[in-house]
Amino acid sequence: MAEERSGPDSVDLPPQERLRLYALAEETAHIGHWRLAVKSGDLYWSDQVYRIHGYEPRSFVPTVERAVQAYHPDDQQIVREHLQHFLTTKEGFRFELRLLRADGEIRRVAAQGFCELDDQGDVSAMLGVIQDVTERRRAEKALGESEQRFHDFADIASDWFWEMDEQLRIIYISQRWSQITGLEPSILLGRTQRELVKDPEAPEARAHLEDLEGKRAFKDFCYEYVDRLGKGHHWQLNGKPIHDARGNFMGYRGTGTDITAEIESRRAAKAAKEQAEFANRAKTDFLANMSHEIRTPLNGVLGMLGLLLDTELSEEQHRYAMVSRTSGEQLLHLINDILDFSKIESGRIELEIASFDLASAIDSVAELLSQQAMTKTLDLGAFVAPEVPARLRGDLGRIRQVLINLADNAIKFTENGGVALSVTQEGSAEAGSGIKLLFEVTDSGPGIAPSEIDKLFKRFSLLDSSTTRRHGGSGLGLAICRELVELMGGEIGVESDLGQGSRFWFRIPLEVDATSGTDSALKLAATKASQVKALIVEPLPTSRGILKRQLTTMGASVALARDPGEISTLLSQAQQEGQGFTSVIVSESVAEAERNALVSEVEAVKQNGRPQLVYTGQEPGLNMSKARELGFDEYLLKPIRPGSLLDCLLRDSCAPCLPHRRVLSPTGGNKIPNAEARARVLIAEDNQVNAMLTQTILTQAGHYADCVGDGREVLEALERRPYDIVLM
Ligand code: ADP
Repeated sequence: MAEERSGPDSVDLPPQERLRLYALAEETAHIGHWRLAVKSGDLYWSDQVYRIHGYEPRSFVPTVERAVQAYHPDDQQIVREHLQHFLTTKEGFRFELRLLRADGEIRRVAAQGFCELDDQGDVSAMLGVIQDVTERRRAEKALGESEQRFHDFADIASDWFWEMDEQLRIIYISQRWSQITGLEPSILLGRTQRELVKDPEAPEARAHLEDLEGKRAFKDFCYEYVDRLGKGHHWQLNGKPIHDARGNFMGYRGTGTDITAEIESRRAAKAAKEQAEFANRAKTDFLANMSHEIRTPLNGVLGMLGLLLDTELSEEQHRYAMVSRTSGEQLLHLINDILDFSKIESGRIELEIASFDLASAIDSVAELLSQQAMTKTLDLGAFVAPEVPARLRGDLGRIRQVLINLADNAIKFTENGGVALSVTQEGSAEAGSGIKLLFEVTDSGPGIAPSEIDKLFKRFSLLDSSTTRRHGGSGLGLAICRELVELMGGEIGVESDLGQGSRFWFRIPLEVDATSGTDSALKLAATKASQVKALIVEPLPTSRGILKRQLTTMGASVALARDPGEISTLLSQAQQEGQGFTSVIVSESVAEAERNALVSEVEAVKQNGRPQLVYTGQEPGLNMSKARELGFDEYLLKPIRPGSLLDCLLRDSCAPCLPHRRVLSPTGGNKIPNAEARARVLIAEDNQVNAMLTQTILTQAGHYADCVGDGREVLEALERRPYDIVLM
């Protein structure tokens, strides 16, 4: 076989075989051939020509006329012209026209003709090929349309399209890119992303280039390209790798968006924001500095007014000085708010965390507010749940500030009724871990319309009501409260409605101080309170409610009498049941005649000794002898401290359980200290008024005081004479 193939005979096929192969080739390529002998007019069609015309091969003898008429009537003239031209010029022809097949179907055929010359150079024959190109043209048309569609989309899209080859060079970019960027495609074509990206070593660019080189799809890659004029263009690309039918990597295709305007406006907005923040900081700093500067002389004014009020003044002078002091105090309050607010704004407030005793802190807040409440004859009460641990860790100063602000508002806006403070614990406490405390300030004031509540904790929001205007204020108080509570990790809110009073609350997490026992003295003492059976005679709802809460949470049993009329029944009922009251607590609000009747009735109780009689009130002069005068055994000053309450009710059985309170000497009567107790004080103060004020207070108290202006003068003064105390 191998020998046969290499021999010359094996290449030359027999004519028959060769014809058969031609015919096969024609059939597969859909190409037929024909020949027209010019002299005889004989036309020869190969089998494939018949098939292209829709006939069985050799089913008739073709003629030129028949061949021409096979074309679409509109095209026949063109065919004739081609033939004529051919005969006269001997130049070949080529056309593509519509052929009407035997079955009526119109096909597109491409025909080509050449001439065959004889020895004299005359045309002896015409020969050519004819090919059915219908399918090819259809495919080309479909392809063209699809391409056009793509171009149309590409032209109207806001993004552009691009393509890379397998070496990641950009080989196509749609026109849209030039329209958008105003750049020539030549600056991109043939280049890689690595060459185009402004900073290929930036982390984001590196990640993107690694994606590309790893042939992975990528999304929203943003980078900056700097053109020849130095202008930066920001582009955002999406792309996916493309593969051929066999899965070989062919490059990338994707879209691009110009985000230059967006980036620039973002940069401008950032710069504007920074500028605004800077201006705001400057304003806040200025506010903070100014408030601080104003506070110093104002303290001087207030102190001097205080001294003035201690001197002999006519009634009129006293009134003027009082009004000045009140206005000064309001101004100081306002300035303190502004100072706090600006500190919060500039993030300069830091919490000072320390260990504290919450129960006594609440007592002192209630005490502080009691004067104000009494002036308005408001009933003020404070309650701390016994389960609240004895010592907690947190910023007591800030907690007090928020609580005083809420309570101060409550007293300010309430005309009748009362204000109650309460602290309860949410969840249980374990030493060393955190707890949440809920602080509530409830009042029976005018309430707040629900529509106004949203504005309350926003800065400068004085609600637009005549009440508010009457009381004035900066509108910063609640905003500061919110900031402080949030700074402490808590939340603040209010429940209120017009005419329904208000309940302001805040909830903060606090650490339990693990270094001391978690149980409050109150809780320890309260274990004994179960022996107490108290009858409360209190017409004022706030005090009645708080007293009941205090006693029941301590485990005492309590009966309430709103008015003295109910008392006889309750007393005799208790006696009949063999469980007489241990204490009867009577409010100063009970009218005198009824109170006297009540005292007599209690004194008449014989069984197991009569109950202890306790008088409660908030009048300043209330003391033991006053209480005794009225026929009572004990007295309790309102707002009633839970400690004093237990102390009083358990006086005989449990006095040592409670820490003794320090008794403060009444203010007013300044006792001059004896010679040994006199101190020599050096005051270092650059504000002359404040220096003078401090000096006056100290000398009035019987001490010696010298003033200097700065640290250097302090040292000089100390060299001259020894001092007991230096106040800087
Ligand atoms: P300011 O510091 O001026 O008192 P606040 O922020 O503390 O301002 O209070 C804002 C406003 O909220 C007050 O002017 C008042 O209208 C209203 N408000 C606050 N507390 C109460 C309350 N307990 N009862 C009724 N209205 C209140």
